[in-house]
Formats: sequence, C-alpha cells, structure tokens
Amino acid sequence: MISKIFILSATAALLILLVLNRRLRRARKLSDDALNTWKIQSGQELNQARHDRNRFLDALGDAFLLVDSDANIRFANRASRTLFGSRELLDRPVREAFLDPRLAQALLKCLETGEPAQSLVVLPQQNSPRGDLETRGVNAWIIDAANLPHPFPGEPTTRVIIRDVTAEHQLEQVRKDFDANASHELRTPLAIINGYLENLLDDDMIEEPMMARRFLTIMRKHTDRISHIVEDMLVISRLESGEANLLKVEPFRFHSCINDVLERLESVVRNQKAVIHVAMPDPDLVLHGDRFYWTQVLFNLVENALKQNPRDGLHVIIGCESIGEKIHIWVSDDGVGIPSADLPHIFRRFFRVEKHHSQQEIKGTGLGLSIVKRAVEAHGGQIGVTSVPGSETKFLISIPTARHAEAPI
Ligand code: ADP
Repeated sequence: MISKIFILSATAALLILLVLNRRLRRARKLSDDALNTWKIQSGQELNQARHDRNRFLDALGDAFLLVDSDANIRFANRASRTLFGSRELLDRPVREAFLDPRLAQALLKCLETGEPAQSLVVLPQQNSPRGDLETRGVNAWIIDAANLPHPFPGEPTTRVIIRDVTAEHQLEQVRKDFDANASHELRTPLAIINGYLENLLDDDMIEEPMMARRFLTIMRKHTDRISHIVEDMLVISRLESGEANLLKVEPFRFHSCINDVLERLESVVRNQKAVIHVAMPDPDLVLHGDRFYWTQVLFNLVENALKQNPRDGLHVIIGCESIGEKIHIWVSDDGVGIPSADLPHIFRRFFRVEKHHSQQEIKGTGLGLSIVKRAVEAHGGQIGVTSVPGSETKFLISIPTARHAEAPI
C-alpha cells in the first residue's frame, strides 16, 4: 500500500515537474521574444533619434562637427560638408581633414585641457577649406570647441562650431581703412594750415599785409577742403545708417535736376568750352525718389567729367530713359577715361586714380563716387561704369520704375 502511494506521489511530482519545466521554457521563450522586440524597437528609436538629430544639425547655418577623444571626426553636418567641399571628413583625424592647422587649434586645445576654446582664424582664400575656388581676399572663421556633458564610452566627446565671419571681418577692415584714410586726408590740410599759422605768428609775417593775405587765402582753401571732406563723410554715414526716413521720396521731373546741375556748373562749362548734350526722349519723365540726392548724384558725375578733363571742348552726355521696368540714367564723356585696372575700385571711399596727380592738380575728396553709389543703392538701384580712355567713359545707373506713379508736385 505504502509503495503504491509512493509510486503515485512520485508520478504526480514528475508530472508537475514536467508542466513547470514546459511553462518555464515557454516563459523564457516569451521573454526572449520580448527582449528581441525591445531590442529592435529601441534600435529603431535610436536610429530615429539619430536621424532627427542629424536633420536638425543639418539645418544649422554654421558648420557643426562631433569629435571623439582621439580627435577623429564622428559627425559632420551639411554646412561643414559644404565648407570642406569634396574632402572626406568622417572617421578622419581633424588635423588631416582641416587643411590648415590653425583651424584645428581651438579643438585640440579643448581636447587637451577639457575647457571650452575659441579662436578667430583669418586665412587667405587660397588657403581656405574651399580650396582654390576663390582666389582673392581672405576668409575669416570663429572656431568654437567645447566638451559634451556626460559622453557615453566610445561616443563623441567634443563639439566644434565653425562660423563664417568673412562678411563681418571685411566690414571691419573697410571701417579701419576708412578711419585711416579719413585721418590721412584730414591731416594733410591741417598740417599745411599749421605751417602757415606758424609763419604768420612766429616769423612775424603778420606785419606784412601782402604776405599775410596770401597765407590766409591758402589757409582758407585748405579749411574749405576739410569742410568738404567732413561734409562728404557725413553724407556717406547718413546714407549708410539705413535710417527708415532718410529719403524724402516724392515724384519729380528728372529734367529739373539736370537744369539745377547745369546751372551750378555753368561757369565751369563755359570756361572749358564743354559741350553738354541732354538725351531724354521723354523730357517730362518722372522719377520717384529724393530729389536732393538725385541732384547730388548727377552733380558729382557731371562735375567729375569736367574736373578730370580740364581741356577745351569736352563732350558730355546726360541721358535718362525709361526702358521696361527700369529707368536708366547715364553720364558719359569723351575724356581721359579710367584705366581698366582702376575700374573695380572706383566706388571705394577715398579712391583716386593716380593719387599724386589728382591731389595736386585736380580738386577732389575721393568720396564723390562713394556718395553716388550709396545714394543710388538707397533708391534700390545699381550703378556701373565702363571706360575706353579717350573715347567714352560712361556711368550707367538703373533704378526700378515706381509702380504707382503719381503726377509730380
Ligand atoms: P573725387 O572727389 O576725387 O572726384 P570721386 O569718388 O568722385 O572722387 O572719383 C574718384 C576718382 O575716379 C577720381 O579721382 C578720378 O580719378 C576718377 N574718375 C571719376 N570720374 C571720372 C571721369 N569721368 N573721367 C575720368 N576719371 C574719373
């Protein structure tokens, strides 16, 4: 009896064990499946997260790179791929990928010290990562490197941002040049005035009325020049200020501007026996703009033609015509012209062709054409120049026609 009970219990226990084992196996299978599903899901989520991250970083205007502790590039956004052109970036050491070692300095310092590092790098354009695409001037970048918080093992440790600041750098350069040129231009007449003052006071020339009058006349000429330069500089700075109410836009007949300018230059025209021809198919053509600035534009162009050609019989043409959506205004002359090497610089502040010659014999501040260009651009227009010395030098302006033209006041 006892052995029967024992056999039955043993069988029951065996059966229970079998069932438990099967359940255990099923449970293990289920958990393996769940683990696999979780792995696949988290893998997909990770890929999605990476994809989203790359998408956002690709949308950045600045070049953005992720670098590991060995200075190998592990991620490069679209702007950096554009910046470095066709060069392979991924999994390459920055020293190799950045052509110029100066570009890698901030990053290497950050990797070494663990502290954020920034540097401004200015390179001649042929040394720039863009290679020989651009061959003139310089490019400037701010390189900003900083460590990432809590990086995972084997993952990037440092981010690098490369911001192109070429435009700001060039602007800064133009400002510096302007300051240097302005001081130089003002120093010359001031030194002359000082010299004559010394003569008058220290050498007792003041006692000789004839001499004193001559000195004072020269001094007045140079103070006039200083006022002229300061006046022109103020006009330029006003035009560059971008003030919303800078221009008093109103409709006016362009012919009235021409009349004003010719009236002001009448004696010069007469003395030089210059021939001025006005080419305006429609003499009533109306311009929408600031009449004051348009008169100045025209005055500077016509005065330049006369001033640069102090000989008898110069021919000057002042033209204005509406063509399609544009109004063209031009001033041309058949004088000495502008050498082709100087044409690209002609609108720069203080630029004068053959400076020594212009300064001594031809009055001018070198600011006239800068004013012209800025005034034209303030009206949404453009100006260009062509010159065949001795034959034709032509300044051509084009401005958009005003949409809702009203009758002039
Ligand atoms: P400036 O006050 O010296 O006239 P501008 O800016 O008006 O300064 O002109 C710059 C330079 O461009 C002049 O010094 C001159 O050398 C040259 N230039 C301008 N217009 C003419 C022209 N019609 N013919 C020849 N040279 C010109």
